[in-house]
Amino acid sequence: MTKVDLKSMDREELSRFVLSLSQPKFRAKQIADFLRRGVSSFEEMHTLPAALRKILEERAFLNQLTVERKLISRLDGTVKYLFRLMDGECVETVLMRYHHGNTVCISSQVGCRMGCSFCASTIGGKVRDLTPSEMEEQVRMAALDTGERVDNIVVMGIGEPFDNFDNLLKFLYNVNDPERLGIGMRHITVSTCGVIPGIRRLMEEELQLTLAISLHAADSEQRSRIMPVNARYPLPELMDVCREYQRKTGRRMTYEFALISGVNDDSETAKRLAALLKGQLCHVNLIPVNPVKERGFSVPSAERIAQFQAVLEQHRIPATVRRTLGADINASCGQLRRQTKQRGDELAK
Ligand code: SAH
Repeated sequence: MTKVDLKSMDREELSRFVLSLSQPKFRAKQIADFLRRGVSSFEEMHTLPAALRKILEERAFLNQLTVERKLISRLDGTVKYLFRLMDGECVETVLMRYHHGNTVCISSQVGCRMGCSFCASTIGGKVRDLTPSEMEEQVRMAALDTGERVDNIVVMGIGEPFDNFDNLLKFLYNVNDPERLGIGMRHITVSTCGVIPGIRRLMEEELQLTLAISLHAADSEQRSRIMPVNARYPLPELMDVCREYQRKTGRRMTYEFALISGVNDDSETAKRLAALLKGQLCHVNLIPVNPVKERGFSVPSAERIAQFQAVLEQHRIPATVRRTLGADINASCGQLRRQTKQRGDELAK
C-alpha cells in the first residue's frame, strides 16, 4: 500500500482521512496543528494516542526537504537553496530581500519540458511534477532556515506551473490557509510561459493573485524563435486570453520580458510590444537576460535596456527593469541544480 502524503492534504481531506481511520474528528485539528508547527515525524505528535501514531506511520508520510546546498549572496543577502526531495531529486528555491519584505521564489517541477532557448531549467527536460507539499515545504523551509517571515511567494523557479496545474492549485489554497502559512493571495505571483488552458482554469478560480506571463517577444515569429511553446499557444491567442483574464479578475497583468542582446532588445521590438499591450492594465518587468553557459545569449548594455524602457514609457506602458539579485550566487533558476547534477554525473563516470 502506498502511503498518503499528509502535508499535501487540505483541511477537508485531512478530516476525511482521519474519519476513515475511525478516529474522532478533533484529531484532524490536532494533526493540523502539529503540521503547522513543522514536526518532522509522527513520534513528535505526542498528544496523539500511541495506537494512532502507529496507524499514521503505516498509512501516511510527512514530506520533507533537506538542504543540499545553500548559498548566501554577499551583495544583497539573497539566499539560494538547493533542496533535496525524498526521492533524491533536487530543486532550487530563492529567498530575496526587498524593501517590501521577503519574497520566496519556488520551483513547481523537477526540470521543465517547455524548452525556452535561454533557460537553464529546461536543458535536461522534465523529470517529474512537484507535489503540493513539496511546493509548500520550500516556503516553510526558507522561513525556518532564516528565522524570518515570508511575505511574498513567486512561482518562478524551475518548472512550468501550468504544466502541473492540479498540484499548483492545491498548493495555492494550502499556503493561503490562515491555519497554515497564511500567505495572502495578493502576495502570490504565478508565472507561466503561456500555457493557455492553465490560464483559463486559473481564471475560473478568480483568485486575487498576480498572473505573470513570460512574453519575451513582441510578435509571434520572434517568440517562436526563442519559445517553442508559441507553436502550440500562439501569441495572438495568448493575448486574447490575457485580456479576458484581466477583465474577469480585475487584476493587473505582469509581463516578463527578458532582454537578450541582438534578439529582442531593439527599439522596433519595444514599439511593437507597446502596440501589443496597448489599452491593457498591465506592467512590464524588463529582465536583463541571465547568461546561461550552455545558451550563449548575452545581456544588452545598460543604455540599450534604458532605451527599451523609455520607448515603452513613451507609449504609456509602465515598465521597470528588474534589479539583479544574487548575481554572485547564480541565483537564476536552474543553474545550481544543473551544476550539482553535472558534478554528480562526472563523479559517476
Ligand atoms: N515556467 C514559468 C516560470 C519559471 S521561469 C515561466 O516561464 O514563466 C521564471 C522567469 O524567468 C520566466 O519569465 C523565464 O522566462 C525567465 N527566465 C528563464 N531563464 C532566464 C534567463 N536566463 N534570464 C532571464 N530570465 C530567464
